[in-house]
Amino acid sequence: MKKFVIILAGGVGKRMGLKIPKQFFNLNGKPILAHTIEKFFNYDNNLEIIVVIPENQVEFWKKIIIENNFTIKHKIVHGGSERFFSVKNAVDTIKEKSLIAVHDGVRPFVSNSTLERCFKTAEIYGNAVPVIDLKDSIRKIKNGNNFSKKRENYKLVQTPQIFQSEILKKAYSQNYKKEFTDDASLIENLKKKIFLTDGNKENIKITDKFDLIIAENLYKNKKLYNFAKS
Ligand code: C5P
Repeated sequence: MKKFVIILAGGVGKRMGLKIPKQFFNLNGKPILAHTIEKFFNYDNNLEIIVVIPENQVEFWKKIIIENNFTIKHKIVHGGSERFFSVKNAVDTIKEKSLIAVHDGVRPFVSNSTLERCFKTAEIYGNAVPVIDLKDSIRKIKNGNNFSKKRENYKLVQTPQIFQSEILKKAYSQNYKKEFTDDASLIENLKKKIFLTDGNKENIKITDKFDLIIAENLYKNKKLYNFAKS
């Protein structure tokens, strides 16, 4: 089946406290977003890549592409005010029956095996969401008190979340709710079962300076820590 990926770089990155948005920040000689696009291209060079960028940053991104001799073909779609609207803008440009992956532009460490597992699961069951186990204990905060919870009952959710196009289009025809923090939450709102697959633990979302230090070290230690295998 034809495959698309929507790579989200539509946020403004306030949490990082950087002058430029985190997706454009340099990591191991290249913008984070360029690393992420490369991951998908290297997985399958027939995959159609759509990158969502805020309208006022498109020229900046085009300049970065030229400066970095970045030649991987991708379509640019303008971001919206919330993640929901950014994804919707991209979904609306896809007309073919296909599998559509939605991925955070700031997750450059997704592995080929995670991509393989997610595409296969989505092709069979309609959707696939990569998750990993929690290592820390967790507590629920309620009415000024807090309670221990069984961590084996919880998972941490990553991207790419992958969907058959008909299902994702239906999900994005719903009205926006602020509880929609990812695509799986929209599918769940349609009363559909979500299919969990294993993610890879180095597939971190680079959100603040601490994550950036981790990311830089993952590249430096690439030979020691073979994340291509996870
Ligand atoms: O910061 P947050 O967790 O909301 O971002 C998740 C992903 O959604 C990021 O890749 C970010 O660039 C993207 N996003 C977007 N459009 C927005 C807000 C976030 O594409 N309006």
